Order: sequence, then structure tokens, then C-alpha cells
Amino acid sequence: MKSARGLKKRCLGRVALCGILLWMACPGLWAADGGETTVDPSWEYEWWKRVGEAAAESALGSFEKMGLRPRKADLVVMTNAGYAEVDGRSTQAVLDGLASVTGSSRGRHSLVEVHSAPWAPLWCAVYDRSSGWNVYLELDPSRAAAGKETAVPGLFRPAVMERIDSEHVLAHPSSWDLKIKNKVFGGNEFRILTIANAVAAGAPTAAVRAVEFHDHYCPGVASGILMAQYLKTHFPPGEGGYFVHAVKPWCKEDALLVLLNATPGKRAYAVDYPTKEDEAGRLPEAAEAATIVYRRQKDGGGWEGRVLAFSWAETPCPKTGSALMDKLCADLWYLKQMEHPERYVKVLKDFRLPDGVSPRDWAGPGVDPLKMLGLMQTGKSEK
Ligand SMILES: [Zn+2]
Repeated sequence: MKSARGLKKRCLGRVALCGILLWMACPGLWAADGGETTVDPSWEYEWWKRVGEAAAESALGSFEKMGLRPRKADLVVMTNAGYAEVDGRSTQAVLDGLASVTGSSRGRHSLVEVHSAPWAPLWCAVYDRSSGWNVYLELDPSRAAAGKETAVPGLFRPAVMERIDSEHVLAHPSSWDLKIKNKVFGGNEFRILTIANAVAAGAPTAAVRAVEFHDHYCPGVASGILMAQYLKTHFPPGEGGYFVHAVKPWCKEDALLVLLNATPGKRAYAVDYPTKEDEAGRLPEAAEAATIVYRRQKDGGGWEGRVLAFSWAETPCPKTGSALMDKLCADLWYLKQMEHPERYVKVLKDFRLPDGVSPRDWAGPGVDPLKMLGLMQTGKSEK
């Protein structure tokens, strides 16, 4: 006699087999959710991967029309795929499509994932560092909304091709100012120009990571990269890492968050937004205070802190009056300074927190760490 348990097992086995057969026959229509059929994730992956392949093929076709045949090793692909969503759908698989056609890779910094909001249009840029030409492609979201029924190659707006190597751009400031005004790359001109040229100039991994998160490369984020470099060498972290408190925030914060893994979510990053009056109330020796960095002393000791400032360099860049030109030139100059952070990062004060006091205690509402350090004029405080 067959046991009830054995019978149940065989019935369940048949249901599972039916499920597999149904999935094989109809892979796109499987997951049921509240009575409505939703799209199978694997179908989504293949479709968006094909979108990435189509973008890369279109870019290579644009190069060919110009008589250019770039080597794969010279291509730098930039995109906000994975961050941008289309009708709430993930575009992450576009990265695999782009990489498979162009040979771009994370390990060689030739596949650059540029941070964006989910509601930003999906875009891809393919830069040939040997010729200096770049192809920009942006998805037309209204066409992508139809999903599977839409022909993938027709999803993009017409490709835009421009020469963007720094040598060419810096030699044509007024023409590029106009192109930025006309948003030739859909408003992504500054980020594409600065990132492409930084990668082509051999930006180190730390710089690429920081720039990806910040979504462009500017002197401000360069100062954060230099500050992180400085800390690793001259103020190495304790076992628990760093606690960072920005007392004058700017683009540097995005570099410090990424490169030190000190984040507000891990209760390791605080930011104050001082007013002009707050800053005027600082003692002269703390006027340039930008960031306080803390680390724990060894063997369970207390916290020690260092107040840092950043000294902006007099770069050899000419003042052209164009924000893009001036920043691009300064960006590339700072890239050559990454091995010498101590030239720009200044120590304003070293101190120890009293026993039992943590940096978080000095970052609470109404507490001004500069006042606690005696660096504010009497009666004046940021908070
Ligand atoms: Zn910036």
C-alpha cells in the first residue's frame, strides 16, 4: 500500500513538472501577482541587455561613418544604466550589453557607471581616446515603454557625435560653451567631458570610484580624493575606521563617503551647513576648517581627531571665463597631484576627545565641534 505521504510527494512533483513545462513554453509570462501576469525577470534581463548591445552597435556604426575604426582597448563607455529606470523597470542589464559589444570592463576603468536619479533618461556615451571622438545616445522613454514589442535599435534618439578630448575642447572654448547651452549631450556634457578625459589621462581607481558616485569630475571632488589619500597615509584609520564630520561641506564629501566607507547610514559621517555668519565667527586659525576626522586610538583607547583644511592650488590653467574650460583644465592638473596630497591638505589642529566621549556626541543637534575645540569667537557658534 502506498503511504499518504508518498502520494502527496508525487502529486507535488507533478505540479512542479507542470510548472517547469509551462515556463518553458511561455517564459515571458509566468509570475502571477494578485491575478495579474507580470514579466519574468529573465526576459527583462535579455531585453535590456539587447538594448545595451544595440547602443554599442549604433555607437560603433557612428564611428565607422566618420571613417574611424577604434580599437576596443581605446574605448571608454560611460552610462547611467542601472541607476536610470524606465517605467519603474531596471536598466542594469544594459551594462552587460554595452560591455559585450565594446569589450569595456570595470577592471580597466573602461566601463564607467555614472550615478543618476532613477527618473533621469537612460544614456550611454562611447569615447574613443585615440581619436578624441565621442558618441552620445539617449533612450527615448516613450518608445521603450512598449517593452518587448518595440524594435530595440529604434529606441534611441539620433546619435550625437562630438570631439571631446581636452586638447580640442580647451582650444575651442566659445564653441563648447554654445554646445553646453544647447545640451548636445542631453545636459550630460560636463560629466561626459570631465570623466572621459580623466579616465583617458589614467585616473586611479579611487578617483574613478569617487567621480562615478559624484556623477562628474570637478576640482571639488578632486579635493576630496586628495583628502582621502592624505588620511590613508598620514592619519591611518583605527580598527573601527573613521568618523568624518564636515564643518564646511562641498563636493569633497562624495569622495570621502565612497573612499573611506564612512557613511551617515553607518553612523560615521556628520555634516554641518554653516551660514556665512557662522563661518565669520570662527577664529582666524579655524577660518578654513573643512573637515574633522576622528579615529579610535589603539587598545580600546579614546578618540583622537584632526581638523583639516584644503589649500586650493594656483594651477597653471588660464582663466578663460568659461566654467567648463577652467574646471576641466584644473581637473586634469589635480589628477597629476594625487601622489602629493600633503601639499594641499593642511592640519589646523590635533586633539583628543575626553574619555567616554564619542564623535557622535560632538555631532548632535546644537553641538558645534569647533566651539567645543575653542575655535569659535566667544559668544559665536555654528549651532
Ligand atoms: Zn562637483
